[in-house]
Amino acid sequence: MPELPDLLYIRDYLRQHATNRTITAAEVRQPVVLRNAVGDPPERALKTLTITGVDSHGPFLRITVSSTLELVLNLMLSGRIQHQRKPDRPLGHICMALHLDDGTRLNMCDENKMLKIYFVHTGSTSAIPGLDALGVDILSPGFTFEEFFRRLGDHPRMQIRALINDHSLLNSIGNAYADEILFAARIHPKTLAGTLEPDERERVFAAIRDVMADGIRAVAEARQPIHVKVRDHMRVRNRKGEPCPRCGTIIRREGVRGYDVFYCPACQPPRRRVFIDWTNKPEA
Ligand SMILES: [Zn+2]
Repeated sequence: MPELPDLLYIRDYLRQHATNRTITAAEVRQPVVLRNAVGDPPERALKTLTITGVDSHGPFLRITVSSTLELVLNLMLSGRIQHQRKPDRPLGHICMALHLDDGTRLNMCDENKMLKIYFVHTGSTSAIPGLDALGVDILSPGFTFEEFFRRLGDHPRMQIRALINDHSLLNSIGNAYADEILFAARIHPKTLAGTLEPDERERVFAAIRDVMADGIRAVAEARQPIHVKVRDHMRVRNRKGEPCPRCGTIIRREGVRGYDVFYCPACQPPRRRVFIDWTNKPEA
């Protein structure tokens, strides 16, 4: 699943390479991914129009065409977008493609056909699930200590991992960066928000800023094609069985409500005795 740093990289890349290009053809190969609120099929409506803007908003990527129409993409779990140039091979599992006037193609691909493409009039986003309900933008000046503390206070019984991962509260932190943030803050993922000490709250807040900034920098510096997920900089995510980069303890993976969570049981000790079985340490 692409996360905020990935989407910002894709956005910036498309602004540079797709904006001001004219669409010579639009192909919908998997109609199941398309939600058409315009009426006219995109094959007919988009042809000869020019891409005028690219933006990202939470998990959504928004491609504006001719200032009046929008393709709003949610890549979901396995969706990818490829900018296919002449010698490149298409990724496969193409659900929709835009042919551009420079001979390149934007392929929207998903082997599971779960990605969603909303075709709407510009700004008509009310029918797009989740888009208008996004929480505070964690990269904006509005995301302050006070804002973050208020959200913790509003949801004292929520586990911190679920809270920072909730896009209607914070816009937006996905599963991978949520693990990285709690590792940086040295907080156990199941800790209830209401039990965090003041210094722990500050650590989580600082880690959100630092980890996301590092991620944005790492993805930009990797300069990979936009369909490649850059994860080499991650310290615990998908590193089950590897030593913790801080203390050497073996990193664990746990399933929490259907999600995989990666953490270091020594750096991120559980708060209460009820979680003692997570650590394998003998009781004192
Ligand atoms: Zn550790």
